[in-house]
Amino acid sequence: MKILVINSGSSSIKFKLYDMKNESVMCKGLIEQIGSDNSFAKISTAHGSIKEISRPIANHAQGIDIMNELLFNSGVVNSLDEIDGVGHRVVQGADVFSDAVLIDESVMAKIEELIPLAPLHNPAHLAGMRETLKVRPDIPNVAVFDTVFHQTMPKSSYMYALPIEFYEKYKIRKYGFHGTSHQFVSKAAAKILNIDYDKFSCITLHLGNGASIAAIKNGKCIDTTMGLTPLEGLMMGTRCGSIDPAIMPFLMENANLSAKEVDNIMNKKSGLLAIGGSNDMRIIEQKMDAGDENAKLAFDMFVLKVKKFIGAYIAILGKIDSIIFTAGIGENDARIREAVCEGLEIFDIKIDKIKNKESKDEPRRISQIDSKVRIAIVPTDEELAIAQDALRIIKNKGNK
Ligand code: AMP
Repeated sequence: MKILVINSGSSSIKFKLYDMKNESVMCKGLIEQIGSDNSFAKISTAHGSIKEISRPIANHAQGIDIMNELLFNSGVVNSLDEIDGVGHRVVQGADVFSDAVLIDESVMAKIEELIPLAPLHNPAHLAGMRETLKVRPDIPNVAVFDTVFHQTMPKSSYMYALPIEFYEKYKIRKYGFHGTSHQFVSKAAAKILNIDYDKFSCITLHLGNGASIAAIKNGKCIDTTMGLTPLEGLMMGTRCGSIDPAIMPFLMENANLSAKEVDNIMNKKSGLLAIGGSNDMRIIEQKMDAGDENAKLAFDMFVLKVKKFIGAYIAILGKIDSIIFTAGIGENDARIREAVCEGLEIFDIKIDKIKNKESKDEPRRISQIDSKVRIAIVPTDEELAIAQDALRIIKNKGNK
């Protein structure tokens, strides 16, 4: 069975085609700068062939057409009919969706209703879905939501201490994001540690350009650091994470900025970039080694915030089996992992500094033999997780 995964963003479409027999990637591609004169599209196949197209791509409909053209012309499939199903990444499913779902008109209407909660993402996802369905109305399309895994959070975790009508009227609550990644890496870790997932408790650290942590008890998420939007929680590449909320009106009043401008600064001009001069942790560390004090400050702030949430989540979870590092920084940055784990021996979290420095592209354990909490690195694969979910939903439909 061949499953195509589509991640349709505001000005880009990323796609990957999987052969689900062995979960191998047949090809991957992207279409960028949709809506500008500089749009381009690219596909690379598992056999190493690369094709590129540079021409204006006005909208997502044209983008999906070009994706189909590339899939066909690159020879990965002889006909689009070979594709058995499509999985679409959807950022915001709010409390409306508690599992991945087959897409039909009523599902798209619900995703549309959630646009106020994801004004950039959900319209782009819908454009991708509508166009895919137009081209291939005969195959099942599945929506897979970033928020679903966090839907098991108790109300005490997801409510904000605001007037309750804001929750009732505007759905203001914590939703959490990166759910497919937290679920994927925690399941993989339970497997390598040989623990039943429904008895597995852990803290997953998704540390990439966007970063979040989840507290997982017996295979269910009970808290996570991102909130109503991805801005809450950790310090990130360009996001400030949790700060005193009164800073926003302060800046509006004293720096004469609009709400939109402050929001833009907090999402795109803050975090590692604002403090250390780059949103890339590799550059932060290079600058830090060259004696740049702000880069060192950015590194220290990033680590401190991760540690604070680990402490908080140990307090609410009680016992944990594992701490799992994933995403760009979590998978590749031994120095960050060592700094995060330093001083956590008191919780029986003991990193093996030699294993931590080995560079391997596979799930592995990096804790000392006598560490009660097993520390693991698990490369995340959100697209594969989407393909697996899409396949599960398509098979269930077949069994009904
Ligand atoms: P992601 O959002 O998961 O793709 O992660 C991207 C981020 O991971 C980059 O912006 C870098 O900060 C970080 N990153 C990637 N590779 C490394 C590395 N070898 N060492 C440190 N940080 C890395």
